[in-house]
Amino acid sequence: MEKKDIDWGNIGFGYMVADYRYVSYYKDGKWDDGAIVSDPNITLNECAGVFQYAQTVFEGLKAYTTEDGHIVCFRPDLNASRMVDSAERLVMPPFPEDRFLDAVKQVVKANEAWVPPFGSGATLYIRPYMMGINPVIGVKPADEYMFRILVTPVGPYFKGGAKPITIKVSDYDRAAPRGTGDIKAGLNYAMSLRPIVKAHEEGFAENMYLDSGSRTKVEETGGANFIFITKDGTLVTPKSDSILPSITRRSIMVVAEKYLGMKVEHREVYFDELKDFAECGLCGTAAVISPVGKINDHGKEICFPAGMEEMGPYTKKLYDTLTGIQMGTIEAPEGWIYTID
Ligand SMILES: *Cc1c(COP(=O)(O)O)cnc(C)c1O
Repeated sequence: MEKKDIDWGNIGFGYMVADYRYVSYYKDGKWDDGAIVSDPNITLNECAGVFQYAQTVFEGLKAYTTEDGHIVCFRPDLNASRMVDSAERLVMPPFPEDRFLDAVKQVVKANEAWVPPFGSGATLYIRPYMMGINPVIGVKPADEYMFRILVTPVGPYFKGGAKPITIKVSDYDRAAPRGTGDIKAGLNYAMSLRPIVKAHEEGFAENMYLDSGSRTKVEETGGANFIFITKDGTLVTPKSDSILPSITRRSIMVVAEKYLGMKVEHREVYFDELKDFAECGLCGTAAVISPVGKINDHGKEICFPAGMEEMGPYTKKLYDTLTGIQMGTIEAPEGWIYTID
């Protein structure tokens, strides 16, 4: 397969129009067979549920080339089931999990020329999404839906690679106390736009959101969960009903315990505890693991001693092991690697 003529080592995290996308429609209570199509544009009625009441959810995963030349995805079954959870929260019909996996396979195969080669640092980002499409003016869920998958090759999410970033404690809440913070939906991202623009204007890479009820507990950033390392090498990661259950974070917990023999704590994390941690990182499909060197709390700095200049030693081990498993140089737990081709 002839690859596209792209400078794979130098692409950013942006959108490129690939050749094909997947689409399936839901009408009269059932999903149609779905198809690979070439038109990247969507034409919808002006009153479609997605426009009026933001009835839309999405997922994000990656396909990449392993050292031995296979195209694979990392734990896509978890994306499939999480999308069902997100859809149900917004009263949308679930897209069947086996069909989700089949659709990912079809769309990646169709776009094989866009899958970056092994070792380039780039990957093919896969974005499944679903929306209400028939006209809705009274407040109610739509009756008809469209499920789509687009793909686009991407480079690293944070510029500068492994260099630790500085983030700020957000002036805004990410989610309502008993809201929908645990689903992957544009509505949460819409609410995060003002805080992220403000953070960037002030020179920070991201926000740390605290729980909106008490603002004493650590939640997550706009699109990644937190991991912390204590001074004696324990992995601590926040537990909350209003953060997105990151697949990367769940995988890191297994890697820490089973591969590196670390102690793992998944629990509520108070903001006041942060000063005692040695390392901090952001984890998600897009970010993989990005080290955080400093957190700015309205002028007061919290510095992570082991990870200010470069990725701290435990974060680095977690990063190397996780990416080794993903790239096929370290043996993966059963079922983690889904072969496309
Ligand atoms: C997608 C996402 C994450 C990361 O989840 P992964 O499954 O690891 O990609 C974290 N937080 C939010 C809000 C997200 O949307």
